[in-house]
Amino acid sequence: MLKAYESFGISKEVYERGEAVLKTLEARFRTIDEIAEYNQLKVLAAMQKNAVADYHMFGTTGYGHDDQGRDTLEKVYADTFHTEDALVRPQITCGTHALYIALSANLRAGDELLSPVGRPYDTLEEVIGIRPSVGSLAENGISYREVDLLPDGGFDFDGIRAAIGEKTKLVTIQRSKGYSSRRTFSPEEIGELIRFIKSVKPDLNVMVDNCYGEFTCREEPSDYGADMIVGSLIKNPGGGLAPVGGYIAGRADLIERCAKRLTAPGLGKDVGASLGINASLFQGFFLSPTVTASAEKGAVFAAALYESAGFKVHPASSAPRYDIIQAIELKTPENLSAFCAGIQEAAPVDSFVKPVASEMAGYPDPVIMAAGCFVQGSSIELSADGPMREPYNIYFQGGLTWQHAKIGVLKSLQKLVDAGLAL
Ligand SMILES: *Cc1c(COP(=O)(O)O)cnc(C)c1O
Repeated sequence: MLKAYESFGISKEVYERGEAVLKTLEARFRTIDEIAEYNQLKVLAAMQKNAVADYHMFGTTGYGHDDQGRDTLEKVYADTFHTEDALVRPQITCGTHALYIALSANLRAGDELLSPVGRPYDTLEEVIGIRPSVGSLAENGISYREVDLLPDGGFDFDGIRAAIGEKTKLVTIQRSKGYSSRRTFSPEEIGELIRFIKSVKPDLNVMVDNCYGEFTCREEPSDYGADMIVGSLIKNPGGGLAPVGGYIAGRADLIERCAKRLTAPGLGKDVGASLGINASLFQGFFLSPTVTASAEKGAVFAAALYESAGFKVHPASSAPRYDIIQAIELKTPENLSAFCAGIQEAAPVDSFVKPVASEMAGYPDPVIMAAGCFVQGSSIELSADGPMREPYNIYFQGGLTWQHAKIGVLKSLQKLVDAGLAL
């Protein structure tokens, strides 16, 4: 094994550090496998309940009327996430789009959106209009309020109560930390927040941005009272096989509005050709629990390895985990670039490319990204990205197999060692 690693450019020192760290993670990996097993049962049961059949794998073109594969897939999502309905479509171009649909479909001029967990993910700033943008919710007369987390990371219940008013119609809760150093919330914690919010104003609808969280726990926020959960198919639930798409799962009346926003009033869910990708979406969802587990093992391994090299990591390797993202404070732009170079060199696709930071639509700072993916931009595949700003956090995620995640993490550390880091 060592020889194979050495011929891949990984030194004995780095390989052995990895093996030593791995020995400490056995119980942790067992728990991750148990969650995957539980979720595999959930997905399988939903597929059998809905009698997923051979002919569902074929798609439609044109309008897409009577696409039984597409309609059955949506029932499988709804049953897995224990919701009344779901919208799962290749016409949803990405996670931000899915979130925009869910928000814009369920808010009208004069309504207010509330984030009780501080500033949301970078790309939502233009969706909401926190940064002025053409077509934003703000431009359409929808106001926005946010309540920061308390200094200890907890929910500011008094502040939230005070922020809920006559106009407040929808609450958005982001499960994952995104590009920040805060914690990721567990579905239970989100449930506690939802219970509080509904005790203040029972008819408020709550949407959870579930990106990167799916299948990392036995339950999802929809099991704890979320009216809609939203995510991207080129993250966890696509299992690496979905070539495009997003989902919204939730209460039937809210999903109906989402469908009519995605297509048009009067059309809703009836149109939307699946264009031959039904099989990838079914198979990807079937694989998602184990693919997510592989990515999570990669994240835990990265946390433990970089802790051992003296870096601050979020979450800590021993902390409970509710998404697949691992943040590592790399402290310098040079370390950030070296880390990304290592992930890129370990990729099956585009391994010869050198990542450099650049401006990206929707993001306020230059971002450096490493990804050599079968599906462009897929972040359930091994990938890393970080905004070029203090404290030079890298956000690392994905890995279709645990073995590949491990190789990539070791390669990243090798690059830091080559650049002068002492182990
Ligand atoms: C990825 C992500 C999004 C946006 O998804 P895109 O597919 O990149 O548009 C939104 N919120 C969170 C928490 C995410 O991780």
